[in-house]
Amino acid sequence: MKILVINCGSSSLKYQLFDMDENKLLAKGICDKIGNELSGFKYVVITGIDEDGKEIEAKEFEKLHIADHSVAIDLVLKKLVNKETGVIADIKEISAVGHRVLHGGEKFNGSVLVDEKVKEAIRECFDLGPLHNPANLMGIECCEKVMPRVPQVAVFDTGFHATMPDYAYMYALPYKYYEKYGIRRYGFHGTSHRFVSKRCIELLGGKAEGTRIVTCHLGNGSSISAVKDGKCLDTTMGVTPLEGIMMGTRCGSIDPAIVPIIMKKENLTPDEIDDVMNKQSGMLGVTEKTNDNREIEEMAKNGDKRAQLVESMLCHQLTKYIGGFAAAMGGVDAVVFTGGIGENNPHYRTRVAEKLAFLGTAIDEEANGKRGKEIEISVPGSKVKLFVIPTNEELMIAQDTFEIVSE
Ligand code: AMP
Repeated sequence: MKILVINCGSSSLKYQLFDMDENKLLAKGICDKIGNELSGFKYVVITGIDEDGKEIEAKEFEKLHIADHSVAIDLVLKKLVNKETGVIADIKEISAVGHRVLHGGEKFNGSVLVDEKVKEAIRECFDLGPLHNPANLMGIECCEKVMPRVPQVAVFDTGFHATMPDYAYMYALPYKYYEKYGIRRYGFHGTSHRFVSKRCIELLGGKAEGTRIVTCHLGNGSSISAVKDGKCLDTTMGVTPLEGIMMGTRCGSIDPAIVPIIMKKENLTPDEIDDVMNKQSGMLGVTEKTNDNREIEEMAKNGDKRAQLVESMLCHQLTKYIGGFAAAMGGVDAVVFTGGIGENNPHYRTRVAEKLAFLGTAIDEEANGKRGKEIEISVPGSKVKLFVIPTNEELMIAQDTFEIVSE
Protein backbone atom coordinates (compact mmCIF):
# COMPACT_ATOMS: atom_id res chain seq x y z
CA MET A 1 0.00 0.00 0.00
CA LYS A 2 1.32 3.46 -0.94
CA ILE A 3 0.61 6.37 1.43
CA LEU A 4 1.21 10.01 0.63
CA VAL A 5 2.02 12.26 3.60
CA ILE A 6 1.29 15.97 3.27
CA ASN A 7 2.38 18.80 5.57
CA CYS A 8 0.85 22.06 4.41
CA GLY A 9 2.06 25.45 5.62
CA SER A 10 0.59 28.81 4.61
CA SER A 11 2.96 29.09 1.61
CA SER A 12 4.56 25.65 1.49
CA LEU A 13 3.67 22.00 0.96
CA LYS A 14 5.98 19.18 2.07
CA TYR A 15 5.30 15.66 0.85
CA GLN A 16 6.59 12.11 1.27
CA LEU A 17 5.42 8.95 -0.46
CA PHE A 18 5.82 5.68 1.46
CA ASP A 19 5.51 2.08 0.36
CA MET A 20 4.07 0.51 3.52
CA ASP A 21 4.44 -3.10 2.29
CA GLU A 22 8.18 -2.61 1.79
CA ASN A 23 8.33 -0.17 4.72
CA LYS A 24 10.30 2.36 2.71
CA LEU A 25 10.28 5.94 1.56
CA LEU A 26 9.97 6.29 -2.23
CA ALA A 27 10.08 10.04 -2.80
CA LYS A 28 9.82 13.33 -0.94
CA GLY A 29 10.11 17.06 -1.49
CA ILE A 30 8.72 20.51 -0.92
CA CYS A 31 6.89 23.21 -2.83
CA ASP A 32 7.69 26.54 -1.25
CA LYS A 33 6.86 30.21 -1.76
CA ILE A 34 3.50 29.07 -3.13
CA GLY A 35 1.66 32.08 -4.58
CA ASN A 36 4.88 33.98 -5.36
CA GLU A 37 6.03 34.77 -8.89
CA LEU A 38 8.89 32.32 -8.48
CA SER A 39 8.03 29.34 -6.30
CA GLY A 40 10.44 26.48 -5.61
CA PHE A 41 9.81 22.81 -6.31
CA LYS A 42 12.09 20.17 -4.83
CA TYR A 43 11.69 16.53 -5.78
CA VAL A 44 13.82 13.81 -4.23
CA VAL A 45 13.76 10.16 -5.26
CA ILE A 46 15.23 7.56 -2.91
CA THR A 47 17.43 5.40 -5.11
CA GLY A 48 18.83 3.02 -2.49
CA ILE A 49 20.33 2.59 0.96
CA ASP A 50 24.04 3.09 1.74
CA GLU A 51 26.24 0.96 4.04
CA ASP A 52 25.23 2.99 7.12
CA GLY A 53 21.55 2.43 6.37
CA LYS A 54 21.12 6.01 5.12
CA GLU A 55 18.91 6.76 2.13
CA ILE A 56 20.67 7.59 -1.17
CA GLU A 57 18.88 10.48 -2.85
CA ALA A 58 18.60 11.87 -6.38
CA LYS A 59 17.48 15.50 -6.20
CA GLU A 60 15.85 17.89 -8.64
CA PHE A 61 15.09 21.57 -8.12
CA GLU A 62 12.88 23.74 -10.26
CA LYS A 63 11.90 27.39 -10.09
CA LEU A 64 8.43 27.99 -11.45
CA HIS A 65 5.19 29.74 -10.56
CA ILE A 66 2.94 27.67 -8.27
CA ALA A 67 -0.26 29.69 -7.97
CA ASP A 68 -1.86 27.85 -5.03
CA HIS A 69 -1.87 24.62 -3.02
CA SER A 70 -4.11 22.76 -5.52
CA VAL A 71 -1.56 23.49 -8.25
CA ALA A 72 1.20 22.30 -5.90
CA ILE A 73 -0.54 18.97 -5.23
CA ASP A 74 -1.19 18.53 -8.93
CA LEU A 75 2.50 19.15 -9.61
CA VAL A 76 3.58 16.63 -6.97
CA LEU A 77 1.25 13.94 -8.36
CA LYS A 78 2.43 14.54 -11.93
CA LYS A 79 6.04 14.21 -10.80
CA LEU A 80 5.34 11.00 -8.87
CA VAL A 81 3.92 9.35 -12.03
CA ASN A 82 6.42 10.92 -14.46
CA LYS A 83 7.63 8.21 -16.90
CA GLU A 84 11.33 9.04 -16.40
CA THR A 85 11.73 10.11 -12.79
CA GLY A 86 8.44 8.98 -11.22
CA VAL A 87 8.15 6.24 -8.60
CA ILE A 88 4.62 4.97 -9.33
CA ALA A 89 2.85 4.15 -12.58
CA ASP A 90 -0.56 5.61 -11.72
CA ILE A 91 -2.04 7.97 -9.10
CA LYS A 92 -4.53 5.19 -8.31
CA GLU A 93 -1.64 3.40 -6.56
CA ILE A 94 -1.93 5.97 -3.73
CA SER A 95 -4.32 4.32 -1.26
CA ALA A 96 -4.57 7.15 1.27
CA VAL A 97 -3.21 10.54 2.26
CA GLY A 98 -2.06 11.38 5.78
CA HIS A 99 -2.07 15.07 6.78
CA ARG A 100 -0.16 16.73 9.56
CA VAL A 101 -2.61 19.00 11.40
CA LEU A 102 -1.27 21.29 14.11
CA HIS A 103 -4.17 21.77 16.48
CA GLY A 104 -6.90 19.33 17.38
CA GLY A 105 -8.01 21.23 20.50
CA GLU A 106 -9.72 18.93 23.01
CA LYS A 107 -11.64 17.05 20.32
CA PHE A 108 -9.00 14.53 19.20
CA ASN A 109 -6.79 12.21 21.20
CA GLY A 110 -5.66 10.30 18.13
CA SER A 111 -5.57 10.30 14.36
CA VAL A 112 -8.89 10.19 12.46
CA LEU A 113 -10.37 9.59 9.04
CA VAL A 114 -11.38 12.99 7.65
CA ASP A 115 -15.09 13.69 7.17
CA GLU A 116 -17.16 16.87 7.29
CA LYS A 117 -17.27 16.82 11.12
CA VAL A 118 -13.50 16.50 11.37
CA LYS A 119 -13.02 19.38 8.95
CA GLU A 120 -15.41 21.48 11.02
CA ALA A 121 -13.46 20.64 14.19
CA ILE A 122 -10.18 21.67 12.50
CA ARG A 123 -11.90 24.91 11.51
CA GLU A 124 -13.04 25.46 15.12
CA CYS A 125 -9.36 25.38 16.15
CA PHE A 126 -8.35 28.22 13.78
CA ASP A 127 -8.14 30.59 16.78
CA LEU A 128 -5.74 28.26 18.60
CA GLY A 129 -3.53 27.57 15.57
CA PRO A 130 -4.03 30.63 13.35
CA LEU A 131 -0.89 30.13 11.25
CA HIS A 132 -1.17 26.39 10.69
CA ASN A 133 -4.74 25.09 10.93
CA PRO A 134 -6.13 27.06 7.96
CA ALA A 135 -3.23 25.83 5.81
CA ASN A 136 -3.65 22.25 7.08
CA LEU A 137 -7.35 22.29 6.20
CA MET A 138 -6.58 23.78 2.80
CA GLY A 139 -4.18 20.86 2.16
CA ILE A 140 -6.94 18.38 2.99
CA GLU A 141 -9.48 20.14 0.76
CA CYS A 142 -7.03 20.38 -2.14
CA CYS A 143 -6.28 16.64 -1.93
CA GLU A 144 -10.02 15.87 -1.79
CA LYS A 145 -10.42 17.87 -5.00
CA VAL A 146 -7.53 16.23 -6.85
CA MET A 147 -8.05 12.69 -5.43
CA PRO A 148 -11.79 12.58 -4.65
CA ARG A 149 -12.04 8.89 -3.82
CA VAL A 150 -8.86 8.56 -1.76
CA PRO A 151 -9.34 8.50 2.05
CA GLN A 152 -7.67 11.36 3.95
CA VAL A 153 -6.43 10.98 7.52
CA ALA A 154 -5.69 13.82 9.95
CA VAL A 155 -2.80 13.32 12.39
CA PHE A 156 -2.70 15.99 15.08
CA ASP A 157 0.43 17.48 16.64
CA THR A 158 -1.55 17.82 19.85
CA GLY A 159 -2.95 14.25 19.80
CA PHE A 160 -0.30 12.45 21.87
CA HIS A 161 -0.64 14.98 24.68
CA ALA A 162 -4.37 14.38 25.15
CA THR A 163 -3.61 12.01 28.06
CA MET A 164 -2.27 14.83 30.25
CA PRO A 165 -4.19 15.09 33.55
CA ASP A 166 -6.03 18.34 34.32
CA TYR A 167 -3.49 19.35 36.96
CA ALA A 168 -0.80 19.34 34.23
CA TYR A 169 -2.77 21.09 31.53
CA MET A 170 -4.60 23.79 33.51
CA TYR A 171 -3.16 27.27 33.95
CA ALA A 172 -3.88 29.13 37.20
CA LEU A 173 -5.95 31.75 35.38
CA PRO A 174 -9.67 32.46 35.93
CA TYR A 175 -11.37 29.15 35.10
CA LYS A 176 -13.81 30.91 32.77
CA TYR A 177 -11.03 31.43 30.17
CA TYR A 178 -10.65 27.69 29.91
CA GLU A 179 -14.42 27.31 29.53
CA LYS A 180 -14.90 30.23 27.13
CA TYR A 181 -11.73 30.10 25.01
CA GLY A 182 -10.16 26.70 25.65
CA ILE A 183 -7.09 28.27 27.29
CA ARG A 184 -5.09 25.27 28.60
CA ARG A 185 -1.89 23.42 27.79
CA TYR A 186 -2.25 21.31 24.63
CA GLY A 187 1.39 20.58 23.73
CA PHE A 188 2.88 20.09 20.25
CA HIS A 189 5.41 17.92 18.39
CA GLY A 190 3.15 15.07 19.59
CA THR A 191 3.91 12.88 16.58
CA SER A 192 7.63 13.17 17.30
CA HIS A 193 7.29 12.53 21.06
CA ARG A 194 5.08 9.53 20.28
CA PHE A 195 7.51 8.16 17.67
CA VAL A 196 10.63 8.38 19.84
CA SER A 197 8.95 7.30 23.10
CA LYS A 198 7.47 4.26 21.34
CA ARG A 199 10.91 3.35 20.01
CA CYS A 200 12.47 3.99 23.43
CA ILE A 201 9.99 1.60 25.05
CA GLU A 202 11.06 -1.06 22.51
CA LEU A 203 14.70 -0.41 23.44
CA LEU A 204 13.84 -0.71 27.14
CA GLY A 205 12.28 -4.14 26.62
CA GLY A 206 8.92 -3.50 24.97
CA LYS A 207 6.56 -3.10 27.94
CA ALA A 208 5.14 0.42 28.32
CA GLU A 209 3.76 -0.18 31.84
CA GLY A 210 6.14 1.08 34.49
CA THR A 211 8.40 3.09 32.13
CA ARG A 212 9.29 6.73 32.85
CA ILE A 213 10.80 8.53 29.88
CA VAL A 214 11.70 12.16 29.17
CA THR A 215 11.71 12.94 25.43
CA CYS A 216 13.59 16.06 24.32
CA HIS A 217 12.68 17.28 20.82
CA LEU A 218 15.26 20.01 20.21
CA GLY A 219 15.23 21.78 16.86
CA ASN A 220 14.32 25.21 15.64
CA GLY A 221 11.16 24.58 17.66
CA SER A 222 11.76 22.59 20.85
CA SER A 223 9.67 20.79 23.43
CA ILE A 224 10.18 18.26 26.19
CA SER A 225 7.67 15.67 27.39
CA ALA A 226 7.27 13.41 30.38
CA VAL A 227 6.03 10.03 29.14
CA LYS A 228 4.85 7.65 31.87
CA ASP A 229 3.61 4.15 31.03
CA GLY A 230 3.80 5.16 27.34
CA LYS A 231 1.41 8.09 27.86
CA CYS A 232 2.10 11.79 27.99
CA LEU A 233 1.94 13.11 31.56
CA ASP A 234 3.18 16.62 30.85
CA THR A 235 4.89 18.65 28.16
CA THR A 236 6.55 22.05 27.92
CA MET A 237 4.61 23.69 25.07
CA GLY A 238 1.28 25.21 25.98
CA VAL A 239 -1.82 26.63 24.36
CA THR A 240 0.56 27.55 21.49
CA PRO A 241 4.06 26.32 20.58
CA LEU A 242 5.62 29.36 22.29
CA GLU A 243 5.86 28.05 25.86
CA GLY A 244 8.62 25.98 27.40
CA ILE A 245 12.31 25.77 26.62
CA MET A 246 13.93 28.61 24.61
CA MET A 247 14.00 27.94 20.86
CA GLY A 248 15.54 29.24 17.64
CA THR A 249 13.44 32.41 17.47
CA ARG A 250 10.83 31.78 20.22
CA CYS A 251 11.40 32.98 23.77
CA GLY A 252 9.83 29.99 25.53
CA SER A 253 8.57 30.53 29.09
CA ILE A 254 9.03 34.03 30.45
CA ASP A 255 7.46 36.01 33.27
CA PRO A 256 4.07 36.91 31.70
CA ALA A 257 4.30 40.39 33.23
CA ILE A 258 7.10 41.15 30.74
CA VAL A 259 4.49 41.28 27.98
CA PRO A 260 2.57 44.39 29.16
CA ILE A 261 5.82 46.04 30.32
CA ILE A 262 7.48 45.79 26.87
CA MET A 263 4.22 46.63 25.09
CA LYS A 264 3.93 49.88 27.03
CA LYS A 265 7.61 50.84 26.82
CA GLU A 266 7.96 50.08 23.09
CA ASN A 267 4.39 51.07 22.19
CA LEU A 268 3.68 47.68 20.61
CA THR A 269 0.37 46.19 19.47
CA PRO A 270 -0.61 42.62 20.47
CA ASP A 271 0.46 41.40 17.02
CA GLU A 272 3.81 43.16 17.30
CA ILE A 273 4.65 41.69 20.73
CA ASP A 274 3.54 38.30 19.39
CA ASP A 275 6.04 38.73 16.55
CA VAL A 276 8.80 39.70 19.02
CA MET A 277 8.21 36.59 21.12
CA ASN A 278 7.79 34.17 18.21
CA LYS A 279 10.21 35.48 15.61
CA GLN A 280 12.76 37.80 17.23
CA SER A 281 13.58 36.00 20.48
CA GLY A 282 15.20 32.73 21.56
CA MET A 283 18.72 32.06 20.27
CA LEU A 284 18.31 34.80 17.66
CA GLY A 285 17.19 37.33 20.27
CA VAL A 286 20.08 36.64 22.66
CA THR A 287 22.88 36.41 20.06
CA GLU A 288 21.32 39.17 17.93
CA LYS A 289 22.92 37.29 15.03
CA THR A 290 21.51 33.83 14.34
CA ASN A 291 19.00 31.16 15.30
CA ASP A 292 21.09 28.44 13.66
CA ASN A 293 22.57 26.15 16.28
CA ARG A 294 25.47 25.14 14.01
CA GLU A 295 26.57 28.75 13.77
CA ILE A 296 26.11 29.22 17.52
CA GLU A 297 28.33 26.18 18.21
CA GLU A 298 31.03 27.64 15.97
CA MET A 299 30.72 31.12 17.46
CA ALA A 300 30.88 29.74 21.03
CA LYS A 301 34.04 27.76 20.19
CA ASN A 302 35.60 30.97 18.87
CA GLY A 303 34.91 32.77 22.14
CA ASP A 304 31.67 34.64 21.31
CA LYS A 305 30.19 35.46 24.72
CA ARG A 306 26.56 35.68 23.58
CA ALA A 307 26.78 32.30 21.84
CA GLN A 308 28.31 30.84 25.00
CA LEU A 309 25.48 32.39 27.01
CA VAL A 310 22.88 30.80 24.71
CA GLU A 311 24.52 27.39 25.17
CA SER A 312 24.55 27.77 28.95
CA MET A 313 20.93 29.00 29.03
CA LEU A 314 19.79 26.08 26.90
CA CYS A 315 21.65 23.47 28.98
CA HIS A 316 20.36 25.01 32.21
CA GLN A 317 16.74 25.02 31.01
CA LEU A 318 17.05 21.51 29.61
CA THR A 319 18.41 20.24 32.91
CA LYS A 320 15.60 21.93 34.85
CA TYR A 321 12.87 20.46 32.65
CA ILE A 322 14.32 16.94 32.63
CA GLY A 323 14.88 17.04 36.40
CA GLY A 324 11.40 18.46 36.97
CA PHE A 325 9.73 15.85 34.82
CA ALA A 326 11.76 13.09 36.50
CA ALA A 327 10.40 14.33 39.84
CA ALA A 328 6.84 14.49 38.48
CA MET A 329 7.08 10.84 37.31
CA GLY A 330 8.69 9.63 40.55
CA GLY A 331 11.94 8.86 38.70
CA VAL A 332 13.27 8.45 35.20
CA ASP A 333 14.44 5.35 33.29
CA ALA A 334 15.50 6.99 30.04
CA VAL A 335 16.07 10.36 28.40
CA VAL A 336 15.73 10.60 24.62
CA PHE A 337 17.30 13.32 22.46
CA THR A 338 15.83 14.03 19.03
CA GLY A 339 15.29 16.85 16.47
CA GLY A 340 18.01 18.71 14.53
CA ILE A 341 19.85 19.83 17.68
CA GLY A 342 19.02 16.84 19.89
CA GLU A 343 20.32 14.40 17.28
CA ASN A 344 23.39 16.35 16.21
CA ASN A 345 24.79 18.31 19.15
CA PRO A 346 26.81 16.04 21.49
CA HIS A 347 27.98 19.03 23.55
CA TYR A 348 24.54 19.75 25.09
CA ARG A 349 24.00 16.07 25.79
CA THR A 350 27.29 15.85 27.70
CA ARG A 351 26.62 18.96 29.76
CA VAL A 352 23.09 17.89 30.66
CA ALA A 353 24.14 14.33 31.54
CA GLU A 354 26.87 15.69 33.82
CA LYS A 355 24.41 17.93 35.65
CA LEU A 356 21.92 15.09 36.04
CA ALA A 357 24.51 12.62 37.32
CA PHE A 358 22.82 12.75 40.75
CA LEU A 359 19.83 11.00 39.12
CA GLY A 360 22.07 8.23 37.72
CA THR A 361 23.03 9.45 34.22
CA ALA A 362 26.50 8.56 32.91
CA ILE A 363 27.41 9.35 29.34
CA ASP A 364 29.56 7.20 27.05
CA GLU A 365 31.54 9.87 25.17
CA GLU A 366 32.55 7.60 22.30
CA ALA A 367 28.94 6.68 21.55
CA ASN A 368 27.89 10.31 22.09
CA GLY A 369 30.33 11.42 19.39
CA LYS A 370 28.48 9.50 16.67
CA ARG A 371 26.08 11.76 14.76
CA GLY A 372 22.66 11.32 13.23
CA LYS A 373 21.78 7.71 14.03
CA GLU A 374 19.89 5.78 16.69
CA ILE A 375 22.28 4.97 19.51
CA GLU A 376 22.45 4.45 23.26
CA ILE A 377 24.84 7.08 24.58
CA SER A 378 24.84 6.07 28.27
CA VAL A 379 27.48 3.87 29.86
CA PRO A 380 26.20 0.26 29.84
CA GLY A 381 24.41 -0.53 33.09
CA SER A 382 23.88 3.13 34.10
CA LYS A 383 20.72 3.75 36.11
CA VAL A 384 19.22 6.21 33.61
CA LYS A 385 19.62 5.28 29.95
CA LEU A 386 20.35 8.02 27.42
CA PHE A 387 19.37 7.58 23.79
CA VAL A 388 19.63 9.52 20.56
CA ILE A 389 16.64 8.48 18.45
CA PRO A 390 16.21 10.29 15.11
CA THR A 391 12.60 11.33 14.84
CA ASN A 392 10.46 10.52 11.82
CA GLU A 393 7.14 12.33 12.07
CA GLU A 394 6.21 11.59 8.45
CA LEU A 395 6.66 7.84 8.93
CA MET A 396 4.49 8.01 12.06
CA ILE A 397 1.79 9.85 10.05
CA ALA A 398 2.05 7.20 7.31
CA GLN A 399 1.74 4.39 9.89
CA ASP A 400 -1.32 5.98 11.51
CA THR A 401 -2.91 6.48 8.09
CA PHE A 402 -2.14 2.89 7.11
CA GLU A 403 -3.71 1.55 10.33
CA ILE A 404 -6.85 3.68 9.98
CA VAL A 405 -7.53 2.80 6.35
CA SER A 406 -6.72 -0.89 6.94
CA GLU A 407 -9.35 -1.19 9.74
P1 AMP B 1 14.99 21.05 13.10
O1 AMP B 1 14.04 22.17 13.38
O2 AMP B 1 14.69 19.79 13.86
O3 AMP B 1 15.23 20.83 11.64
O4 AMP B 1 16.43 21.54 13.67
C1 AMP B 1 17.07 22.69 13.22
C2 AMP B 1 18.24 23.01 14.16
O5 AMP B 1 19.12 21.88 14.21
C3 AMP B 1 19.07 24.20 13.69
O6 AMP B 1 19.38 25.05 14.78
C4 AMP B 1 20.33 23.54 13.15
O7 AMP B 1 21.46 24.38 13.29
C5 AMP B 1 20.46 22.31 14.05
N1 AMP B 1 21.27 21.29 13.38
C6 AMP B 1 20.96 20.60 12.27
N2 AMP B 1 21.98 19.80 11.89
C7 AMP B 1 22.97 20.00 12.78
C8 AMP B 1 24.30 19.50 12.93
N3 AMP B 1 24.80 18.60 12.08
N4 AMP B 1 25.02 19.93 14.00
C9 AMP B 1 24.50 20.83 14.89
N5 AMP B 1 23.25 21.35 14.79
C10 AMP B 1 22.51 20.95 13.75
